[in-house]
Amino acid sequence: MKKNLGLLVIIFGVLLSVLVVIKQKASFQKTPNPQDLKEASFYETLDNGNVRCQLCPNRCVLAPGQRGICKARENINGKLYSLVYGKPVSINVDPIEKKPLYHFLPGTKIYSLATAGCNLDCQYCQNWDIAHRQPEDLASLDMTPQQVVDEALKAKAEAVAFTYNEPTVWYEYMLDIAKLAKQNNLKTVIITAGYINQEPLKQLLPYLDAVKIDFKSIKAETYQTLIKGNLEPVLETIKTVHQSGKWLELVHLVVPGFTDNLEEVAQLCTWIKDNLGPDVPLHLSRFWPKYKLLNLPPTPEKTLKEARKICLEIGLNYVYTGNIDDLEGSTTYCPQNRQPLIQRRGYFIEKNLIDQAGQAPNCPAQIPGVWGK
Ligand code: SF4
Repeated sequence: MKKNLGLLVIIFGVLLSVLVVIKQKASFQKTPNPQDLKEASFYETLDNGNVRCQLCPNRCVLAPGQRGICKARENINGKLYSLVYGKPVSINVDPIEKKPLYHFLPGTKIYSLATAGCNLDCQYCQNWDIAHRQPEDLASLDMTPQQVVDEALKAKAEAVAFTYNEPTVWYEYMLDIAKLAKQNNLKTVIITAGYINQEPLKQLLPYLDAVKIDFKSIKAETYQTLIKGNLEPVLETIKTVHQSGKWLELVHLVVPGFTDNLEEVAQLCTWIKDNLGPDVPLHLSRFWPKYKLLNLPPTPEKTLKEARKICLEIGLNYVYTGNIDDLEGSTTYCPQNRQPLIQRRGYFIEKNLIDQAGQAPNCPAQIPGVWGK
């Protein structure tokens, strides 16, 4: 009975993630006209009109007329352009717990948007229908950064999230929105796989408040086979974000046969503890069959709970399970006396004892996070 109630709460939470009514006319653009596009940042010109994009570790070299792996940037007459600036394809107002962020403004709403494109090819992509499509194959809005911020304020959101697809590939749009959001007292959050080069990352970080990074595996081979990317740049991103002092949470998706080896989960947690300390929250998320991995079963709940136990034994203070109904695995505990401080059901907060300074009655520790504006 209790379990069914939890499931109902999760479903209700999903439904509460309100789809913002798309008022503008959907627009398609078959042949990009550079006059209508934003020139990309971070690229260099090469011989014969070729360019090399320096935004992400793919470093695509593109001849005129070619698009990057991400499908979101094109060389037009020897200049690189973003094809998705001002063209969101998905907008929702989500509970912040859905990102998931558990130590950042709990219980608030976050205005969330995405464009087309992605610079990786995760075989289980949950958002493949926008991440792996050409921009002109999707209905999009025309929205300036100011309009995004205005809509977020109208929705009474506390923050704007760059999310769903990989926001790195719409870097210029994201950066302009983030700058305006800060001027309007909105927080900014990126949900990312962390596959971005160091220079663009460092220029973006001053305009972000929180970063959620998918830490997909501790093994380089798994990154190559499952994600079609490299591990090393992601580790660099995680360390840079942590050193910047911006709020950081990590997600590890536990995929049967790929990332559910508990010894590897232990190695991943040890890397986190050694490089970031024990206080960066880690979410162990359940895989659900999608995209190219429809043949796999969902992750057994038992595996997630065992993985969480191992991570806690290694010494991480805040380890959560995700995408399952697990009261214990979705509760924030005092790391010193294990008293429950925040209890969640799905995306809802049932109890929160932590004040804006990160203090809670009877817990001697200060709980790391951003607890108030
Ligand atoms: S952002 Fe796109 S075009 Fe640039 S290097 Fe990455 S995949 Fe290639």
